Amino acid sequence: MKIAVVGTGYVGLVVGACLAENGNDVVCVDRDVAKIATLDAGRMPIYEPGLEEMVRRNHAEERLRFTTDLSAAVRASDIVFIAVGTPQGEDGSADLQHVLGVARDIGRAIDGYTVVVDKSTVPVGTAQQVRVAIAAETAEPFSVVSNPEFLKQGAAIDDFMKPDRVVVGTEPGDGRAAGVMGELYAPFTRTGAPIIMMDTASAELTKYAANSMLAARISFMNEIATVCELVGADVDQVRKAMGADRRIGASFLFPGVGYGGSCFPKDVKALLRASSDMGYECRILMAVEAVNEQQKARLVCKMQAHFTDLAGRTIALWGLAFKPRTDDMREAPAIAIVERLLALGARVRAYDPEATGTARQIFGDRITLCEKSYDALVDAEALVIVTEWNEFREPDFKKMRQLLRSPVVFDGRNLYSPEHMRALGFTYFSIGR
Ligand code: NAD
Repeated sequence: MKIAVVGTGYVGLVVGACLAENGNDVVCVDRDVAKIATLDAGRMPIYEPGLEEMVRRNHAEERLRFTTDLSAAVRASDIVFIAVGTPQGEDGSADLQHVLGVARDIGRAIDGYTVVVDKSTVPVGTAQQVRVAIAAETAEPFSVVSNPEFLKQGAAIDDFMKPDRVVVGTEPGDGRAAGVMGELYAPFTRTGAPIIMMDTASAELTKYAANSMLAARISFMNEIATVCELVGADVDQVRKAMGADRRIGASFLFPGVGYGGSCFPKDVKALLRASSDMGYECRILMAVEAVNEQQKARLVCKMQAHFTDLAGRTIALWGLAFKPRTDDMREAPAIAIVERLLALGARVRAYDPEATGTARQIFGDRITLCEKSYDALVDAEALVIVTEWNEFREPDFKKMRQLLRSPVVFDGRNLYSPEHMRALGFTYFSIGR
């Protein structure tokens, strides 16, 4: 099929590459001239495991192209995905200016039946707004489909190529668009993953409900971890035994430093805002947010309790990205932690395998960014672990002890056994244990 993907970010580039990988003819569109030039030159604007190789291969075989020319891309396509950002607006609602701007551009460009697919995360009613925006510009026939994306950064290719399910919302009676989407996704659902067809409003809400449920699990476990600390229980043992119950399941039960990233914080806020606009206050989601804010402060509180005064102390920090295997720092808990440490007068030496460039843009020279994990430890009075990159799981503890000025570790991801750390001579703090 001939496909255009408008918005070549973390989602658009993965969607474009994966669709090309299955033989489709894909053109990725972005208004960011530098990004398109980077991709055209064979370089990647973001880090996502496996993506570079897939992009290179499909680009070389001319199934994947990059352009800033939206009109030409739309005219040459049967299906146009909208995958632009929907950032948080000032009042917490999703800002739809990019989605609707692209919809108008698509309307001005289409010259025959086109399926316009909304991939961006958007509030209920957006498909309708997209229809109105396109129809204002053209008399050509088109369908609007809502097809929310559930990929996880860090595992995006696998998630797209082997989805748990594909959600497709179509307008009433639009069998033609449902057929096109079924055909497009057939190669991705051969192993039995369902394509769940529904109306556009339900598809739009499914994405917010799923992300809010995941955020709720995180906040719930963070709260249980706090209770564990107060009563002397071990959250790891509690978590494993809870997860063994099939009604609960073992995934997403890990306490930590709070959720971050470009999705959970803004999607929880947008759902809160949308329901409040309809006269209903989602009280569970308010608590999910409040617990998350509290959680981001907990590690620094533990550090203050240990050191009393952090002014003038050097703190090493491992992990800046909001999660492992990405360079993305949007809403990363590391930002809140670093800012708090700096406000308390501490110096920060930080290391991340992929997010150093992003961190430099955020912090400038206010922190020291190290090339290697162990460099961050030099002269530091404590190490704080914020992101659970695999390379932090089995470090050289002896070397860590030698490099740190005092052997104190604040582990926001429960990577190590408390007994083992104590036996190695560390003063070790973790979450809920
Ligand atoms: P992103 O910021 O990485 O990418 C968005 C891209 O759209 C940017 O490259 C930007 O230049 C481009 N863009 C904006 N306006 C444009 C226009 N008018 N014409 C052409 N290009 C334009 O965002 P993302 O993380 O890829 O997220 C995109 C959407 O997908 C959001 O709604 C997000 O909530 C949703 N989503 C994201 C993820 C994720 O893990 N990042 C997962 C599922 C869903």
